[in-house]
Amino acid sequence: MAEEKKFEKKIKGLYVDPLIFTHKFVKGCDACICTGECCYYGVYTDKYEADKILAMKDKVIAAMDDSQIKDPDKWFEPPEEDEDFESGIAVGTQVYNGKCVFLDKIGYCTLQKMAMQEGIYKWEYKPFYCIIFPLVVYEGALTIDDDHLNRLHYCNKPENQPSTVFETCKDEIIHILGEDGYKELAEYREEYFKKLNEGKIEVKG
Ligand code: SF4
Ligand code: SF4
Repeated sequence: MAEEKKFEKKIKGLYVDPLIFTHKFVKGCDACICTGECCYYGVYTDKYEADKILAMKDKVIAAMDDSQIKDPDKWFEPPEEDEDFESGIAVGTQVYNGKCVFLDKIGYCTLQKMAMQEGIYKWEYKPFYCIIFPLVVYEGALTIDDDHLNRLHYCNKPENQPSTVFETCKDEIIHILGEDGYKELAEYREEYFKKLNEGKIEVKG
């Protein structure tokens, strides 16, 4: 992919948008409060992730409730080219009953629920962009998915945002960059705020 250098710092091949240090966010996700509204619109998965989900369709169907569609042919949209995905092909999940086909009626992701019930890594089956939200990889940079966040009613409300994306999303950042990448990011954050306090840079976004 042709990369345009927009940010000074790059970790593990991704530019870092410093907005992740300052953008306000909830202290933690709680589907009992927000009903998982970030999943109401579906998500773009990498084709290999969609294939992995379809390969275990019987298990997925067994974990679904009566608000979800159990026909695997109705789970995904047609594939499309997208360079922000490892395989270069993105596949959107379908929306059914006003929510992603994999969201149950309580507000839990069936794919995460399955992994937790199996006692394996909680994000083993969950698509990458679901795991990392409100972070996103856009044109080679780790940044905030503002477009999606701005249409949410709970976690985008200032009164529900006592934290920042960086502070709340440690596990998500480690998932993307690894422990060593997270450490490097935390160090960069210190440098960033030092320069900010010295008036050497301005807050972007
Ligand atoms: S990102 Fe927002 S809507 Fe999604 S689970 Fe977290 S708090 Fe809820
Ligand atoms: S796959 Fe799971 S986490 Fe992703 S949008 Fe659908 S329900 Fe939400």
